Amino acid sequence: MAESMTRDGAAALPAVYEVLGQRAVIRLLEHTDHQVVVAEIRAALARHRGVLLANGTPPPDAAAVAAEVAGRLSAFRQPALRKVINLTGTLLHTNLGRSPLSREAKAAVATAAATTNLEYDLDTGRRGDRDNLVSRLLTRLSGAPAATVVNNNAAALWLTLNTLAPGRGVVISRGELVEIGDSFRMPDIITASGCRLMEVGTTNRTHLRDYENALDAGGSVLLKVHTSNYRIEGFTREVPLEQLVELGRRRGVPVVADLGSGALVDLACYGLPGEPTVQETVRAGADVVTFSGDKLLGGPQAGLIVGSRDHLQAIRRNPVRRALRCDKLRLAALEATLRAYLDPRSLSAALPAYRILGRSRETVERIARRMMPFIAEWAGDVARVEIVTGESQVGSGAQPCAGLPTALVALTPRDADAGALAHALRRLTPPVIGRVHKGRVLLDMRALLEPAALIAALRGVTR
Ligand SMILES: *Cc1c(COP(=O)(O)O)cnc(C)c1O
Repeated sequence: MAESMTRDGAAALPAVYEVLGQRAVIRLLEHTDHQVVVAEIRAALARHRGVLLANGTPPPDAAAVAAEVAGRLSAFRQPALRKVINLTGTLLHTNLGRSPLSREAKAAVATAAATTNLEYDLDTGRRGDRDNLVSRLLTRLSGAPAATVVNNNAAALWLTLNTLAPGRGVVISRGELVEIGDSFRMPDIITASGCRLMEVGTTNRTHLRDYENALDAGGSVLLKVHTSNYRIEGFTREVPLEQLVELGRRRGVPVVADLGSGALVDLACYGLPGEPTVQETVRAGADVVTFSGDKLLGGPQAGLIVGSRDHLQAIRRNPVRRALRCDKLRLAALEATLRAYLDPRSLSAALPAYRILGRSRETVERIARRMMPFIAEWAGDVARVEIVTGESQVGSGAQPCAGLPTALVALTPRDADAGALAHALRRLTPPVIGRVHKGRVLLDMRALLEPAALIAALRGVTR
């Protein structure tokens, strides 16, 4: 405390004890730890010192610093992770937490937040295995004999390769060396899992003999990666999974398929180009299949691994699995999500992700027309508001070339720039996230799940 008692002469800023004596800070100290308040005051003074040294503006007085500190500390009492309304047009937006959870999944999370039988066998009264909570459902739905769940698909792939081929070669086509967002790169994952990257073929063409040659040179796993976020078109050739499986069987080498989004249903029903489903990939004979929980599965962040009993047993015994395991909240949400697939016909009623994927153009237009007056009322004289048509993207690296027809509310600012308008929307409660395109703010209505929350946000009603 001694140095804070001396006045900061150089910058002529108030001393810490002076700020501590301000009424705003005295009130703060009634419900906030003294050390936390002092640290915040010091941080505020340090910021001002930097500014003063830079441009010599007059220093703030103790009351001004106190008000600033009170403001910063009250921000701590607001949750940093907040509900937002995603009108970006990217339906499963990675930066916005990908898939929204179903009502059942949310309820399951709330239940699991209490004491649960996470690793406790209620029949025997002995220790159980958390994997059993979802693996039976997962094997039934995928058709694979065994299954496990880890933190995310990156972890699923890491654990699989680290178990099957430590120190040995993983053979992958150069056309499948994907980079997913946020610096997740397939070659890096393979190397980080302790395996040797054996890339074969070229960007556009890879042949079966390329894989065969790599196995001759010591390859121990054949890896097929679904190029989820790009397509290679034109003079191309890839080896179908069935042929890789046949080669793997012949040479006694396991075949791993990373599906990325991992749909359990045929997306053609949703007007999207079909993707290989998890069931098809299992049926084609892949020994291990990995996919994400929060992409087209419509659940929480998770990495699902399904495959043969032997390989899954080895994967489950990998000591690193513990570092990658899911907690009870995630497992609860995942179990509830998977249960929806027991009746795929009810998927768009049960899972929000499929509800928004399945909306017809007419439905989205109806939503846009209903929301338009509220948006126009909010915009007032600041912007001209109209409905335009366009396309939504699935997002999360899934279906990069397919758009879904949509209706957007477009705001064309009269004076302010579109960036400022988008910012004002983000300051609503809950924040409304649109996108800025060619001087307009576009609000894509396909992903709107709670119209009442949008209306409340626009009318300034805090929810
Ligand atoms: C998205 C994706 C991953 C990573 O999945 P996360 O669940 O985000 O870790 C891995 N591989 C492919 C092909 C993907 O599309």
